[in-house]
Amino acid sequence: MEYDKSNIFSKILRKEADAKIVYENEYVLCFEDIFPKSKIHILIIPKSEYLDIFDFSKNSSTDEKEAIFLAFEALIDMFKLDKKGCRIITNHGIDGRQEVPHLHFHFLGGQDMGKMINI
Ligand code: 5GP
Repeated sequence: MEYDKSNIFSKILRKEADAKIVYENEYVLCFEDIFPKSKIHILIIPKSEYLDIFDFSKNSSTDEKEAIFLAFEALIDMFKLDKKGCRIITNHGIDGRQEVPHLHFHFLGGQDMGKMINI
């Protein structure tokens, strides 16, 4: 599958669509999810064009990978979640129900996130 520049996160990166940005570094942008699924729901995206976690894992640089973890760290500090914790997930492909075809991690917290779903 080719990267499609018309996806909403690509538009946010190009400043063609608005987002409430909470953190940014050289390689990563973090902004509030428009339909939050928990009290804190931030989306973490690479600034370069990666479809999903598999694409990112195979094709990103070490600096880009490290930047994602630096963003996680920054958000945990920002929301003071080091003691209470949070949930960080990414949906991938059809079974993962990924809707926006630009890699993103969901940073969820501010409450008990409940158990992961059962089969
Ligand atoms: P996915 O299902 O692909 O893992 O998650 C896509 C996420 O993007 C959803 O949680 C959805 O609420 C969020 N989203 C969709 N459109 C927009 C938008 O225009 N702005 C923002 N900030 N989030 C969006």
